[in-house]
Amino acid sequence: MPADDSIARRETVRDAIARAARTAGRRAEDVTLIAVSKTHPVEAIRPLIAAGQRDFGENRVQEAQAKWPALREQHPAIRLHLIGQLQSNKAEEAVAVFDAIHSVDRASLVEALGKAMVKLGRRPDCFLQVNIGDEPQKGGCAIGALPALLDQAKLAGLPVAGLMAIPTADHEPAPYFALLAKLAREHGLAGLSMGMSSDYPTAVTLGATHIRVGTALFGSRE
Ligand SMILES: *Cc1c(COP(=O)(O)O)cnc(C)c1O
Repeated sequence: MPADDSIARRETVRDAIARAARTAGRRAEDVTLIAVSKTHPVEAIRPLIAAGQRDFGENRVQEAQAKWPALREQHPAIRLHLIGQLQSNKAEEAVAVFDAIHSVDRASLVEALGKAMVKLGRRPDCFLQVNIGDEPQKGGCAIGALPALLDQAKLAGLPVAGLMAIPTADHEPAPYFALLAKLAREHGLAGLSMGMSSDYPTAVTLGATHIRVGTALFGSRE
């Protein structure tokens, strides 16, 4: 995709965020647009950086290690978000590379991240991922397991910024977003990582603080 396209698409997305925020009586500045650059090469990413985009999302540790160190040296203000599932044995590498981790979903991972943060002296923001549609194959902790996981994360010293979820495909997403917002409120958490290309305006009206948008910025993935 030509660079101009992604820059124009970013303006479209930003306009939609502003509209949705206004509808909900929120400020657009309180919504962080994470540009999900997974599978896209560095050449596709550079134009967005030049246009002012600073938050980017990747779903694999290895891909992030390959693509981002050089870019970040040139642009120190970039913030990198891990949005994909994380194996505990990759926790240390993830803590080294990412500024935020949106997929903290089980006790073994909390433990591994806690140890890695102590060892490296780096503390990326953590979002606890909730399996909001109770789907067997999906990542995220069960809703009932959230209070215990949150307690454990706090004890382990993880900076818990909020909750993350991916609604069930083929269902109206709004009820899932509303439920995640309610859970965050009940636990006194400010951050809400929810909303993707197909549903981010709805997520913003329901309180999203971080939206994860790939296709609407970069075009479709291979
Ligand atoms: C790929 C991905 C996204 C972005 O999806 P698009 O539909 O391309 O916007 C958001 N969140 C997660 C967890 C993803 O894996």
